[in-house]
Amino acid sequence: MSLERTLSIIKPDGVRKKLVGEVIRRFEKEGIHIAALKKIRMDRAQAEGFYTVHKERPFFGELVKFMISGPVVVMILEGENVISRNREIMGATDPAKAAPGTLRKLYADSIQNNIVHGSDAPATAKFEVSYFFKDSEIF
Ligand code: GDP
Repeated sequence: MSLERTLSIIKPDGVRKKLVGEVIRRFEKEGIHIAALKKIRMDRAQAEGFYTVHKERPFFGELVKFMISGPVVVMILEGENVISRNREIMGATDPAKAAPGTLRKLYADSIQNNIVHGSDAPATAKFEVSYFFKDSEIF
């Protein structure tokens, strides 16, 4: 077991669908600590920088457009093995393939509009946490 931090984003579709409370409730019910939280609207450069690992993918342009289509809620989740636990709570990228009870199975519309983001590994979590938060914003 190891105490980890991971970045969670409630994407523009999740905010539009009024799922902010549901998502946070789920994390807290699972015993996960919300160490930081804010609502922001990313600009194009910020979204492109965040998803730079995907820049060669055919859906990159659409993904960036979607991520800047409205405000998002960014959070740092903290807990034992929280990187993989959050991925389990979110479910598979494509909601059609997501396990029952996962956030994406319950609420997502498509492989792109899948309501939440979660870091996928310790190195990405470190990059993504510091992409949005200063140390003084983390509690
Ligand atoms: P994640 O780690 O489960 O979020 O999935 P990925 O890292 O593979 O992809 C990042 C994000 O890109 C996903 O959450 C989706 O919003 C989007 N995405 C992934 N695959 C596709 C695709 O085939 N088409 C489109 N339009 N978007 C995709």
